[in-house]
Amino acid sequence: MVAPNNVRSEFTQCFGDDSDVRVFCAPGRVNLIGEHTDYNDGFVLPIAIDRNTVVVARARNDSIIRVYSVNRKQEGTFDLDHATPIQKGQWTNYVEGTARLLRQKGFRIGGTDIVLESDVPVGAGLSSSASLEMAVAAALVRLGDQPFDRERMALACQEGEHEYTGAMIGIMDQFAAAFGEEGHALLLDCRSLEFIAIPVLLEHHALLVCDTGVKHDLAASAYNDRRRECAEAVEILEKFIPGIRALRDVSESKLNAYATELPEVLYRRAHHVITENARTLAAAEALQERQYTVLAELMYASHESLRKDYEVSSPELDLLVDTARTIPGVAGSRMTGGGFGGCTVSFVEQDRAEEFMFRMREAYGTELKVYTVRASPGAEEIC
Ligand code: ADP
Ligand code: MG
Repeated sequence: MVAPNNVRSEFTQCFGDDSDVRVFCAPGRVNLIGEHTDYNDGFVLPIAIDRNTVVVARARNDSIIRVYSVNRKQEGTFDLDHATPIQKGQWTNYVEGTARLLRQKGFRIGGTDIVLESDVPVGAGLSSSASLEMAVAAALVRLGDQPFDRERMALACQEGEHEYTGAMIGIMDQFAAAFGEEGHALLLDCRSLEFIAIPVLLEHHALLVCDTGVKHDLAASAYNDRRRECAEAVEILEKFIPGIRALRDVSESKLNAYATELPEVLYRRAHHVITENARTLAAAEALQERQYTVLAELMYASHESLRKDYEVSSPELDLLVDTARTIPGVAGSRMTGGGFGGCTVSFVEQDRAEEFMFRMREAYGTELKVYTVRASPGAEEIC
């Protein structure tokens, strides 16, 4: 965890002193299963992790937000009362989108000085962006003495990311950063936003994240392409299956009945989403019932579907998952996050965890980073 006192002393360096500051944090997340289902109104099973963005914040008596990132060693400024054209590609857009969308959704947001630091790996599929957004949102909402409406805050962060970065992401990341629970995964229905917390028992199993250290350039554009392909599939299918709003509403048998009506690529995209929804519900049950061999098969099947049907894996991710399958004591492994690089998530028996790390590094290279993560709480005020 980033040391809050370090962030306070950075705040003093930026803004003169740290009197009256308040400190907040929000976690990154690892998605156990349910990939690319959130923007199809489907199901996801993320776990908020013990890596966070820490925000130190103090209200100003104007409408200006000044924000400094310790990781980037860069500051940005904008005025909430004056909108300026969005310049894509800047990290401060994640802050600006959050602040402006919170305002649009009716929160009272005033000028604020902010210093933030994160230990969520950036661009690795563990959602450093939602972690940053929710930590900033927590600070802005609390400094305005307002109710901590986690759902509305998560929606504001998501829409802010849409408008200010152009990434048309689903709700999973912000939801996990907002509602994470210690020791639990969240089975979330991305249509109703209802969720149940399912215990993740880590006495016998470790949750290990392997970071390929690779992020392929096409990741952002391919994400939006997949989203568009899913919408196109729904547009065609609704001529034959009246009343559907999203791939969530289509069963596998209905999809197969109308398979020839879809271009082959759209069929495979839809097939991934529809089968992934079913796998996610089955995996939640397996986790609840501690049926780890069932969970393992579902995770491997998810990876295969992402590799072949959805085509968002990468040679590095495939190598890690293919290697994990050969190691004793591994109860499932798959790519996690949007894909095209980033991380895999693996469930490994505790007393085999050392051997797992050794064997994975042997196959991938000694530079492979492996993080042991724990299921952790969502956004909160600390200190
Ligand atoms: P992911 O959310 O999977 O880590 P994204 O591409 O969605 O990847 O978000 C990463 C971006 O979020 C970074 O490129 C940067 O703009 C911003 N970001 C995340 N954490 C920080 C930080 N601590 N300081 C500055 N910018 C950050
Ligand atoms: Mg992100």
